[in-house]
Amino acid sequence: MIQDIAPRRLANEYHGNATPQQDDLVLFVRGQEVAVRRVGAKEFCLPRVGECEQADAQLTYLFSLDNHACWLAPECGTAVPPAGYELVHNRALRMEHRGPRELMYVVYTAVHLADWYAKNRYCGACGSAMEHHPAMRAMRCPSCENTVFPRLNPAVIVCVCDPERNKIVLTRYAAGRYAPIDALVAGFVEIGETVEDCVRREVREELGLEVKNIRYYKSQPWGVAGDILSGYWCDVDGDPTIHRDASELGRAVWAGPNQIPGQPDDLSLTNEMMCLWRNLHQTPQAGKYSFYGWQSADVLDAQGRTPRDLYDQLLGLWCAKTCAPRMRDSWSEQNPTLGQCSITAFLAQDLFGGEVYGVPLGDGNYHCFNVVGYCVFDLTSEQFGNRALDYGSAVLQSREQHFQKTEKRERYELLRNMLKSQ
Ligand SMILES: [Zn+2]
Repeated sequence: MIQDIAPRRLANEYHGNATPQQDDLVLFVRGQEVAVRRVGAKEFCLPRVGECEQADAQLTYLFSLDNHACWLAPECGTAVPPAGYELVHNRALRMEHRGPRELMYVVYTAVHLADWYAKNRYCGACGSAMEHHPAMRAMRCPSCENTVFPRLNPAVIVCVCDPERNKIVLTRYAAGRYAPIDALVAGFVEIGETVEDCVRREVREELGLEVKNIRYYKSQPWGVAGDILSGYWCDVDGDPTIHRDASELGRAVWAGPNQIPGQPDDLSLTNEMMCLWRNLHQTPQAGKYSFYGWQSADVLDAQGRTPRDLYDQLLGLWCAKTCAPRMRDSWSEQNPTLGQCSITAFLAQDLFGGEVYGVPLGDGNYHCFNVVGYCVFDLTSEQFGNRALDYGSAVLQSREQHFQKTEKRERYELLRNMLKSQ
């Protein structure tokens, strides 16, 4: 998602007294357009303070990216971007798949703040010119002390599931509204309703469906719309016949795992949710690999390895010594993944990041696997043969808790060292 920029960090604490440094970034914003310089086929860069002519005092502190502050230039018309930079609509940057991702995040967030500053120059109560609050990110009226904070529009993204038919609802906006890409139900929270009520109302209004089992997933700032988005899963309750609101949606269909291509980029919460559902619900196909999730296990580690490559390497390393003691007697080369799940999942987490989840096995133990964004894979699923695991019931696993057992930590270190020396 757009905010997943670790180890980079966008820090939005307010430092109104900061002084612009020569290599800080400057955002020239006009509506939804931002001044950028295109670099190569896929990248862009932002102007630095040292390249800009206006006096430092005219720059407004926004936030920082790592050690560099990001500043808002005075409104376009008053301030002109330096030579070589042009105003480009943020949507064009997204459609061109321009990175780096942390700069897309900077642009989206800057557009949000620039819009708020532009629309709060005068007091809504008495009409006086507003001033920057000295200590907080706020605008204050010197006449009546009305204080205005940045505005966020809470909104929901809803993935409506039909567990019985193994489908979810994909939508597209009506023609002319936004890009023609697959999306989920979305809408703004109204004053006086809970977020859960908003989920129910938006699904009812857009699809004519009732829903139950509403579960929170994750949130996402989406600055270009001034939004803070919350993602929810829910299940259709009763008749699954869609009655689409044609004024809002151009398309609304039930789609199975093989009918979800995902969006062209991985910036949005919507895309992460639909691809995660797809990857959790697709049926493995026969082929070279048969571990769960192998088809989409295409994230890369620092060495350019995919989880499939890691699986290939581990096939030569898993052994009785790395198998959990309670299953060690049953381990064989014919069943190499037996008893290897947690140490393998944490090793894969070292390489690919993400989280380790565990499926409860009913005997107090968990079977561990990996979730990296929307990429879900289980390198040691084959030990279960034809037994279907309920990945949907998995719970987050704690590395610290697992490795409190010295014996397990030592097996993990053994496998890690064997992999390193391979
Ligand atoms: Zn006022």
